[in-house]
Amino acid sequence: MLNVIDLHKSYDVAGQKVDILKGVSFQLGAGETLALSGESGSGKSTLLHLVGGLDQASSGRILLGDQDILALNDTDRAQVRRTKIGVIFQQFNLIPSLSVLDNVAFQARLAGRYDERLCRELAARIGLADHLTKYPEQLSGGQQQRVAIARAIAMQPDLILADEPTGNLDEATSDEVMRILLELVSTSGAGMLMVTHSTMAADSLDRRLHLSAGRLA
Ligand code: ADP
Ligand code: MG
Repeated sequence: MLNVIDLHKSYDVAGQKVDILKGVSFQLGAGETLALSGESGSGKSTLLHLVGGLDQASSGRILLGDQDILALNDTDRAQVRRTKIGVIFQQFNLIPSLSVLDNVAFQARLAGRYDERLCRELAARIGLADHLTKYPEQLSGGQQQRVAIARAIAMQPDLILADEPTGNLDEATSDEVMRILLELVSTSGAGMLMVTHSTMAADSLDRRLHLSAGRLA
């Protein structure tokens, strides 16, 4: 489903070329889940941004199904991102002006796959059935991240990208949010690439990879 081949990424920092990813390759089967670890600054978020079509690589290929998302023009890449990829960031990134229910539905609507019954069911499964008309600012951090998780699942993506999804939460909340994330992803059948420092989370996923000095091990 996802096939990353010899991916390179460098940044220009004050006129100096700095290599961050130095030939990263891996595959992810449909419905397979992968935990990505690595030191701070090792390039984990950079890798997720590239797979998510949010940034341009220096070289390499990223095949999602039969499409190379690096070779697509901006419009086509945005379309792939909108319809096939659900993202969950450390910052919950909810839309402040939308209610809980409309946040859950937001990406599904963009993907052209809005299903009210599914959105309500997901809202119930994240424990927010009684908060559907509230706004993000009225929710705790853990509740907001549960909404972001439901939003990513509601669009029925092929692939979920999660970048330290519990990094902003205290430990008890973290465990609960991670449990809900893993449960929803597994019933959805989506594949997932998740950056996490949690061994509990990594142990629950199918495979682990470690990014170090620009390469995977
Ligand atoms: P991680 O998520 O593993 O902590 P990142 O992918 O965020 O690491 O960053 C990897 C390295 O790339 C860091 O040294 C960071 O400073 C650098 N970096 C990230 N984004 C940019 C950018 N837009 N311009 C220059 N350097 C960047
Ligand atoms: Mg990061």
